Amino acid sequence: MTRADRNRALYARRRAAGLCVRCGVPSTGARCTGCLDALRDAARERYDTRVASGQCVGCGAACGVRARCRACREEQREPAKARSARWREAHPEAPRWDGIRVPEARP
Ligand SMILES: [Zn+2]
Ligand SMILES: [Zn+2]
Repeated sequence: MTRADRNRALYARRRAAGLCVRCGVPSTGARCTGCLDALRDAARERYDTRVASGQCVGCGAACGVRARCRACREEQREPAKARSARWREAHPEAPRWDGIRVPEARP
């Protein structure tokens, strides 16, 4: 049995018993509020550390001055694209700034 297997087994046992999977205290969710806070703090700290050391906050790859590497930014762009498409529909007359040419709708 590997360590990961043991962790999984422990996780399943605690989850089934209604305990926090991380520290084992009774909890309604998979993790108690204390552990959620700790995870959030850890995530924030990792973010700060990575930004400070020029690493991508998503995957940890070295990416210089930006918070996210190219691959992670591409991934993040999808929702933004959908958002701007919606905005574009509501503002058909607004000038384009993204360099993407669309076929003229008007004759
Ligand atoms: Zn906990
Ligand atoms: Zn990345």
